[in-house]
Formats: sequence, C-alpha cells, structure tokens
Amino acid sequence: MKIVVLPGDGIGPETMQVTVNVLQLVSEKYKLQLQLLPDVAGHESLRLHGTTITPALFDKVKQADGLMLGPMATYDFKDEAKGEINPSMFFRKNLDLFANIRPARTYEGVKTITPPFDLIVVRENTEGFYADRNMAAGNGEILVTPDVGIALRRITRSCCERIARSAFALAMQRKKHLTLVHKHNVLKVTDGIFLDACREVAKEFPQVTVDDFIVDAMMAHVVRAPGRFDVIVTTNMFGDILSDLTAELSGSLGLGGSLNAGIDHAMGQAAHGSAPDIAGQDIANPLSSVLSAAMLLRWHGQRKGLDDFATAANAIEQAVTQSVSQGDCTRDVGGKLGTRASGEALLKLIRAG
Ligand code: NAD
Repeated sequence: MKIVVLPGDGIGPETMQVTVNVLQLVSEKYKLQLQLLPDVAGHESLRLHGTTITPALFDKVKQADGLMLGPMATYDFKDEAKGEINPSMFFRKNLDLFANIRPARTYEGVKTITPPFDLIVVRENTEGFYADRNMAAGNGEILVTPDVGIALRRITRSCCERIARSAFALAMQRKKHLTLVHKHNVLKVTDGIFLDACREVAKEFPQVTVDDFIVDAMMAHVVRAPGRFDVIVTTNMFGDILSDLTAELSGSLGLGGSLNAGIDHAMGQAAHGSAPDIAGQDIANPLSSVLSAAMLLRWHGQRKGLDDFATAANAIEQAVTQSVSQGDCTRDVGGKLGTRASGEALLKLIRAG
C-alpha cells in the first residue's frame, strides 16, 4: 500500500511524525509492506513551490492507495490566484471523497461531561453549504453589493443517496441504528431531498432502525444522552459542526479520528485544525491523526480483502485505548506526556500487543 504523507501546518508536523512512526511499526509487525511517500502541502508547499498544492503532488496522490493529510491552516488560504488553495477541500472535491466518517467514543480513564458513548458521524463531504466545492465553476458565495452576501447550499439526490448508503452500510456493521440529522422545518426543499433520499435507501436496509432529529435539537440530545446514538448521517456543514462536538464530548478534539472516503481513494485526516495556539510546543495530542491512519488501513484492507490491515488497525485502536486509560497521553486527555512521549508510549503498547 502506497500512502502519500503530507504533514500539514501548525501542529501537523508533530502529530504526523508520531503517525508515521506508528505506521512504520505496524507495517513491520503485520507485514503490510507500506510505502510511505512524504511530500508537502499547505504553507510549506506555498513557500517552496508558490502554491499549497502542486499538479505533481495531485498526480502522485492519484496513483497512490491512500493519503494521510495533516491539518491545514485553511483560514490563511484566501486567494487561489496566489496559489492559496485549501488542500482539504482540494482533495475532497477532486478525489470525490464524498463520505467523511468521524467516530467518537468515550475512553475509560478520560473525564467527560456525558455518560459513555460510542457513535459515528457520517458527513457528506462534497456539496452543501461549502462555497468552495458546490459549484462546477465559480464560487457558491456571492457578494451582491458590498453589504449584501448570498451563500448557496447545493443538495443533490445522488449525493444524498450515496452518503446514505455509506451510513446504512456502517450501521449494518454496528447496532443497526441510523439517525438522520436535518433542518427540514426551515430548509424544506434541500433537506426534503436529503430525507427523501435517505428513506428511499432505507428500503435496501430493512434491518436498520431509522429515526431523525432537527439539527438544533440534536445538539441538546447528543450532549444530554449521546449513548442513544449509533450511526448519524447528515449534510456537510451540520456534520462538520456535530462531529467536532462529539469529538470534544469524547474527551478532546485531539481524539477525533476521521476518514474521507470515496470509491477509489481515501484520505485520513485528523478532525481538528492546525491549532496554531499550541504548535511547536510538543503538547498536541497525536491520537486523532493516528486513529485516522488506522481508519485508512482498515478501508484499504476491506477494499482489497486483506485481513492483516484490519488486524493492524485494531492493534492501533487498542493501543490508543490502553494508553489513554493508563494516562500515558497528552494533557488535553488528562495525561502528562508531550506529543513525542505520547507517541513513544503508543509504540511500546503496539510492540507488546
Ligand atoms: P483547531 O481545531 O485547530 O483548534 C481548536 C482548539 O482545539 C484549539 O484550542 C486547539 O489548541 C485545540 N486542539 C486542536 N487539535 C488539538 C490536538 N491535536 N491536541 C490538543 N488540542 C488540540 O481550530 P482553529 O484554531 O479554529 O483553526 C486553526 C486553523 O485550522 C484555521 O486555519 C482553520 O481554518 C484550520 N482548520 C483546518 C481543518 C482541517 O484541515 N481539516 C479543520 C478545522 C480547522
């Protein structure tokens, strides 16, 4: 398996180094023959090549089996004419990575404000309220006059159907319970299409129990009783917000693994951003990135029918659970270790596992 590795901005180089060490170890231990292909995107690429993403990098990623993308300082990238392309958006759009899978669960030993839970948010990734990816040309945000702006939200039946199908398939592997999250009371047309498409796809999965919640009420339900949810499917922006909330409820945004998957390509990327407030201080939690890498390995193994990849992914997840429960982790999840030491603790557990 060839994986292009792009460390990203801010805390990215620190968390990605831990991720690379973990991938190299499981490759050796489980004979995965991983080939890690390092390259740059974001600020480092802008400095070296005058653009955050080069065409050569895109070709390399298309030819690889997977991509590990570090967190990107997206807020800094404002002008595509100056090479400031948002790399997260670029890969999601151009590799058609329509399903953003974001698991969140509580860990023994990590203090949380909620009862225990274990859920997955499945977020549509290619349209919705995201002005940078919902138009074939131009941008979905329009400045009508200097004081009037319009943002377009594109929702298509085909995109709703494929994200629903991914969510139902995941629900079938879990507790067979899927929750649809929407704002149909206000967005009657667009969320009408979303709900309708999900209910059509539901007919293919009669074993799955389906319920639905309005997105604002969902915020209360998920804080009050997250344990009642299993798989949740929603449109792009609602999923973006909801999955940061569920990651933080699990103890820290630094525990939020995330996979962006399409039919032929997938990209692991931590749920959090580049966290410039803590960059370079050896305090960032590397586990979100490591968990995203485990998801990428499992995705590849499932596609290719290679059981060793699932075994390696399980080993990584078990080591994460153990390191967090033992307190061998960073401060955001109650430990005392720095980023590097947290990575070392993880390697030790994987070696011993
Ligand atoms: P952020 O997710 O980077 O940080 C939010 C808070 O969580 C900060 O207090 C940060 O210190 C903390 N945090 C984040 N990751 C952590 C980790 N691994 N360990 C411990 N604490 C962690 O959000 P932000 O500060 O609003 O955004 C910073 C930059 O990241 C912006 O340019 C934004 O556009 C970008 N961003 C990128 C992505 C992405 O690449 N997928 C996602 C979100 C934000």
